[in-house]
Amino acid sequence: MRSGTLLLSIAFCAAVGLQIASAAAPETPEAIAVRLRDKAMNGESIAYPFVSELTTRFGPRPAGSSAEQHAAAWAAARLTALGFENVRIESFPIQAWVRGSDRGEIVSPNAQPLAVAALGQSPATPPGGLEGEVVIFSTLDDLLAAPKGSLAGKIAMVARRMVRVEDLAGYAAVVPARAAGPHEAAQRGAIAFIMRSAGPDHHRMPHAGTTRYFDGRVDVPAFALSAPDADQIERLAALGEKVRVRLFSTASYVKDAHSQNVVADVRGRERPDEIVMLGAHLDSWDLGTGAIDDAAGDAIMAGAAKLIAELPRRPKRTIRVVFFGSEEVAQPVKPFGAFGGNVYATAHTGELAKHVLAGESDLGADRILSVTLPKSVADSDFAKSVYRVLTPIGVLASQTLADPGTDVSPSVEAGVPAVGLAQDASGYFDLHHTADDTLDKIDRRQLDQNVAAWAVVAWLAAESDVDFRGGH
Ligand code: ZN
Ligand code: ZN
Repeated sequence: MRSGTLLLSIAFCAAVGLQIASAAAPETPEAIAVRLRDKAMNGESIAYPFVSELTTRFGPRPAGSSAEQHAAAWAAARLTALGFENVRIESFPIQAWVRGSDRGEIVSPNAQPLAVAALGQSPATPPGGLEGEVVIFSTLDDLLAAPKGSLAGKIAMVARRMVRVEDLAGYAAVVPARAAGPHEAAQRGAIAFIMRSAGPDHHRMPHAGTTRYFDGRVDVPAFALSAPDADQIERLAALGEKVRVRLFSTASYVKDAHSQNVVADVRGRERPDEIVMLGAHLDSWDLGTGAIDDAAGDAIMAGAAKLIAELPRRPKRTIRVVFFGSEEVAQPVKPFGAFGGNVYATAHTGELAKHVLAGESDLGADRILSVTLPKSVADSDFAKSVYRVLTPIGVLASQTLADPGTDVSPSVEAGVPAVGLAQDASGYFDLHHTADDTLDKIDRRQLDQNVAAWAVVAWLAAESDVDFRGGH
């Protein structure tokens, strides 16, 4: 009787198995998205080894440096070896900035060292350094209110503190001082500009970052102070002291440098000319190794695209990964406005009409909090599918996209629809552009969740027929 039951069971199972096999429909795009998500969450993407090797081999990768060029050559070779197609390096000329050495100190009322870093694009001081009395402004607006000539021979300082939030808003509030401060200080007669670093941390590390050219140049030497050093100067001034500071920098420019974008495709099976673009930048500041800004972004995008490339069937549309060059020194004014995103949109003008969607990862390596799809698809079946797959890994639907990202912005301005995956940036700006932006700060589990979210969005967009421009 026992063996009879067993035989019956086997027969039953076989029958059910056959039934399932004959009735099985092809796996839906959403079911495949779930598999991609789970693979990424399980740590099966190349993201971590990629960011580890990139930051370990090349260290810091300033725009126009040989390290940036070597990293681009390595990335192109690695993407080719990983099975990406049509991999190419697209070079463009830039004027590179080289930090050299820099330092600062309080000379009176009592000599004290300062932790400073020259801002990107800042000119050198005279060989012996420069010295002046510090005039403190709480905000850039206060500096703008100072009359012309009122800062003659002085060093202007903007002391505004950055507020810690989970998105870009705190940073966006302090960056205008870094961009315009040196010019505005010079307009009022100042011999140099210093600022409290753009970061909410209290570590004794200055945060690098570019300042802006006006008429093709930065008028006066400009430096970021670490937060405790900015506090120190403010407290000395509050004691009624005149604070004199000496600044020294050997920064220089290389006029005939070049940078480059690395472009690599996972070619679509039905409409390869239609492109879902995933961007991040390959250059970094020089103080750390540019792990969270932005080697992590490169790794996330390559990791997501590679998971999709490993599927038995390619998506209908092409997924294009772009590692942009020269993002950190992006300038809005031509002819100095050569940065990767701008160069890409110009060089690929003819293709942009077929770029169906573009997204960028450039806010660290921590987990994705929300996804913002183009408004044209906000309530579509496509959106519902994205939300169903991403909700279980803690990604919310959002309706607002504050900033598509520096590198995809020129393409977005030319009409390419943007998708935004907002990361948890609440800890990002503690490390951002400092010596402490190194690989050990990356949390692998958060990186995996990030890859999962991008893989899902990229796959579903590339496998769909959705027109994200909408209405036509
Ligand atoms: Zn960045
Ligand atoms: Zn940056």
